[in-house]
Amino acid sequence: MGPFFKIFLFFIFTLAACGQAQAKLYVVTTTTDLRALVSEIGQEFVTVDSIAKGTQDPHYIEAKPSFMTKVNRADLLISIGLDLEIGWLPNIIQGARNPKVLKGQKGYLEVGPLVEPLEVPTGKISRAQGDVHPDGNPHVTLDPIRVGQIALFIAERLGQLDLEHQEIFIKNAKIMQTRLQDKVKIWQATIDQSGVKKIVTYHKTLSYFLNRFNLENSAILEPKPGIPPTSGHIIEIIQQIKEQKIPLILVENYFDPTVTEKIKNRVPTVRSATVMVAVDGGPNVSTLDALFEHLVDTINGR
Ligand SMILES: [Zn+2]
Repeated sequence: MGPFFKIFLFFIFTLAACGQAQAKLYVVTTTTDLRALVSEIGQEFVTVDSIAKGTQDPHYIEAKPSFMTKVNRADLLISIGLDLEIGWLPNIIQGARNPKVLKGQKGYLEVGPLVEPLEVPTGKISRAQGDVHPDGNPHVTLDPIRVGQIALFIAERLGQLDLEHQEIFIKNAKIMQTRLQDKVKIWQATIDQSGVKKIVTYHKTLSYFLNRFNLENSAILEPKPGIPPTSGHIIEIIQQIKEQKIPLILVENYFDPTVTEKIKNRVPTVRSATVMVAVDGGPNVSTLDALFEHLVDTINGR
């Protein structure tokens, strides 16, 4: 056998061996924020799709058959939990018929309960209180520090499913966590400079962000979670804005912003802005870092 032929055979065997290597992990996430996390941690070793779009209210997503087809092929399904997806994910999981991604399996990960939820209600909960989440506020990915923790949980799970790339996943998650920790200091300084301390929002979407940056969520335009603003409630808020000199109203971009016009007619000094609250919630927010920067800039009046 000539040397060239030996080299040729070597190539053939190498190619065959590569073909047998583990296939890329396929991950489905419920939200675009989780998708952004998986793609930064998993990079070229993972394929990832999200069910909700960044422009949609994540509480209300239609359980389309196309989502069931995706979850059917998934090696891992990642959700927030804390009831965020309760109205639609159970139907998608049921329709997907994929035993790998059932609760309790390695292929199912709920990240919200792992990062100390805020606003866990005390006492008895009734439907009269609106769409109250019994396990706490589910909008955890709007806190950069919790996002860093979630990155590590995701990396750990990806590593269990793909041992070969375990170290890379953990390394990528740690890089992300450190970067966000560093940026939080810069963002805090910018927010402090803005002089804004109190903010009104439409829904309790920004609780984690506001809590992280020492901002007070003074009032919510929804009288109860999931209930659109009523005129009586708006009158109360106008009063509160005047008394407490609240400078800013932020409306998550999937809600109707026209309600702020009524408030601004009565209190012309108050500033209002529509904000993106998820990755791909609009142009130029295709990463979590860009999303946080957008929120910081909006508060700062830029
Ligand atoms: Zn909510």
